[in-house]
Amino acid sequence: MLHARTSVVIAGGGPFGLMLANELGRRGVATLLFDQKPATAYTPQANATQARTMEHYRRLGFADEVRALGMPADFPTDIAYFTRFARHELARFRLPSSGEARQVVRTLSGSWSAAELPHRCNQKYIEPVLRRHAEALDGVSVSYGWRMNGFRERDNRVEVEVESVSGTARHRIAADYLVGADGARSLVRQGIGARYTGETGVARDFVGGRMYAVYARIPDFYRDIPHAPAWMNVSFNRERRCFMPAVDGKGEFAFHTQLKGHEDERSIGEADAAAMVRQAIGAPLAVEVLARGTWTAGHSLVADRLRGGRVFIGGDAAHLFTPTGGLGYNTAIEDAVNLGWKLAAVLKGAAAPRLLESYEAERRPLAVRNVAYAKGFADSLGLYEPPPEIEDETPEGEAARRRAGEYFQAHGRAEFNIPGITFGGRYDGSPAIVADGSAPPPDAANLYLPSACPGGRPPHLWLADGRSLYDLFGFEWTLLRLGAARGEGFVKQAQVRKLDLEVVDLPLPEARELYAAELALIRPDQIVAWRGNSDAQAAAVLRQLTGHG
Ligand SMILES: Cc1cc2nc3c(=O)[nH]c(=O)nc-3n(C[C@H](O)[C@H](O)[C@H](O)COP(=O)(O)OP(=O)(O)OC[C@H]3O[C@@H](n4cnc5c(N)ncnc54)[C@H](O)[C@@H]3O)c2cc1C
Repeated sequence: MLHARTSVVIAGGGPFGLMLANELGRRGVATLLFDQKPATAYTPQANATQARTMEHYRRLGFADEVRALGMPADFPTDIAYFTRFARHELARFRLPSSGEARQVVRTLSGSWSAAELPHRCNQKYIEPVLRRHAEALDGVSVSYGWRMNGFRERDNRVEVEVESVSGTARHRIAADYLVGADGARSLVRQGIGARYTGETGVARDFVGGRMYAVYARIPDFYRDIPHAPAWMNVSFNRERRCFMPAVDGKGEFAFHTQLKGHEDERSIGEADAAAMVRQAIGAPLAVEVLARGTWTAGHSLVADRLRGGRVFIGGDAAHLFTPTGGLGYNTAIEDAVNLGWKLAAVLKGAAAPRLLESYEAERRPLAVRNVAYAKGFADSLGLYEPPPEIEDETPEGEAARRRAGEYFQAHGRAEFNIPGITFGGRYDGSPAIVADGSAPPPDAANLYLPSACPGGRPPHLWLADGRSLYDLFGFEWTLLRLGAARGEGFVKQAQVRKLDLEVVDLPLPEARELYAAELALIRPDQIVAWRGNSDAQAAAVLRQLTGHG
């Protein structure tokens, strides 16, 4: 048994754990990450990286790398609904290719004024990028093939036991903090006595029950299917409903269907799995099964607490979604962004341990909100059932397809055009936000109203020289000076408190109007912490924001 000492142990190397390792490593925090898998995920899971997540990847310097992954740059990221893929197309919600997204984002305003648009790319491609960047950081060690067996909290540390999966080595590590990034069955969640609360086992005609996933190669799909390619393909008929996102845009797909009452996953062989895929296609194409497995749709769960002493949980360990809306992995990434700077600030003495209370205060309500949005989309998709005549070549069949098409056109827009969800998350009432008494904008899935009301995402602006305002933000704190006020009190107080504060002068009437103040203070996770016209309260503001208030 080897004994070691570190600042943070992360148990789990999915998106949450890997992103947290990046946030901590970038701040010089000694971090050991362990994951029991041999390497990052091989099978497809999350397919959508929301725009807010892309903004965080941009902040860390690898958004372009991520945007180059997945499907070819000119592959449309449409969401298309069919009876079967080779038969009738019912509806199509058009979205730009990744190549177009880079250009289009510069022309958008209002709800989509942003540094980045969403990117449709499978998690299996993104995890290696997160891993590579984490591994490149001094002080971060990433070990796959290692299982965390248990932990115990002592007075001023957590003792964590890890073991190589091969069983040849065991370590006991003393850490200042342990973070459970160990997914839905989280040992860490159980260890701190937290429990999932909410709804589970919801039954629907689709995305509510036992699901069967087939990672498949269908080499002739794009040659033989008589419709334009799409990123998300949804089949809607009485025999086999599925959603099947493109994985590489060349013939690999992540097929997900719901098992019928009479279908038993234990008796489904490889040929049966291929037959299910063919049934959704509606044509006898060759289907190569790369991997297959089951999962359950119908969870809307959030842990009753995200912390026990020096131990935190985040990602799927803290909340479990039905994947409609594509929110599970994205919520996990924002958990990491939120926890990372706070842990680092406390470990470096720039903030009081009380700051860490704001992690649960901010992220738990956000998880409850996002889980509810995902459930709404699952109800909208899964409770809408195919009428018996949907595939008939009759006027009744045609009418049924037209009705379904109208329904899915509206559903697709609602589920996949969600600036309000991705940009509109807020931390009102958090101890790490200084409210100014203004009313936050309403929370709506499909509408984001840019607002610098403290507690939300800073309004975005493209500058005349083509840069995004977000590229001017410092890696830690930013003071935006938008008018005559100099805010020197913040500069002085930041020095006293050893806070890294970037001062950005932006004397643009447009920016002043957007922020509705002369000064705005932006947190390291790109959230407006405070705004105002004078620095008179600078000392009190920074005291509160660093957990000393
Ligand atoms: C079919 C499907 C489609 C999805 N689509 C989307 C989508 O479009 N958008 C979206 O945002 N989300 C989606 N999700 C959800 C998304 O995949 C998860 O929310 C995301 O992976 C959560 O990341 P995580 O790091 O918290 O957990 P995980 O990715 O589950 O990672 C947990 C890690 O912990 C490791 N681990 C567990 N126990 C231990 C232990 N004791 N010791 C060491 N390691 C351990 C595991 O090996 C694993 O690697 C989808 C999920 C599914 C199943």
